[in-house]
Amino acid sequence: MPAHFSEATAGRIFVGRLERGDDLVDEIEKFCGENGVRAAWVSAVGAVNHAAFAYYQQEERKYLELASEEHHEIIGFVGNISMRDDAPFLHAHATFGSVSGAAVGGHLLHGCVVFVAEITIREMTGVELIRTPDEVSGLSLW
Ligand code: ZN
Repeated sequence: MPAHFSEATAGRIFVGRLERGDDLVDEIEKFCGENGVRAAWVSAVGAVNHAAFAYYQQEERKYLELASEEHHEIIGFVGNISMRDDAPFLHAHATFGSVSGAAVGGHLLHGCVVFVAEITIREMTGVELIRTPDEVSGLSLW
């Protein structure tokens, strides 16, 4: 198997809905913490009242934080749960659609205010995803 790949086993699958006003990232991380989910694949569909996301500037090695006050649909969302500082950490990228059909998005930040969100969390077992600093990228990777 190539370096940086591990074989995981499918674990539990959780499906649920977040409530209006919830913080999208906070609630997913909290659920995983309360249910002992240490590695997972996460997807979501729904809508937000406020979107918070970022773009990682590779040269500067830092995130440019962005936000949108428009009401958006979550038209794309892919993410994973790993462990960072001994707690479940959600790394997700999302695309947010607007009334014009245009889209914005990026690396998801805390501060996305849910209107509605249907969440699927697919646990992975038999693997440990622990984030540590990566010198090359400047990011915290597993
Ligand atoms: Zn990212």
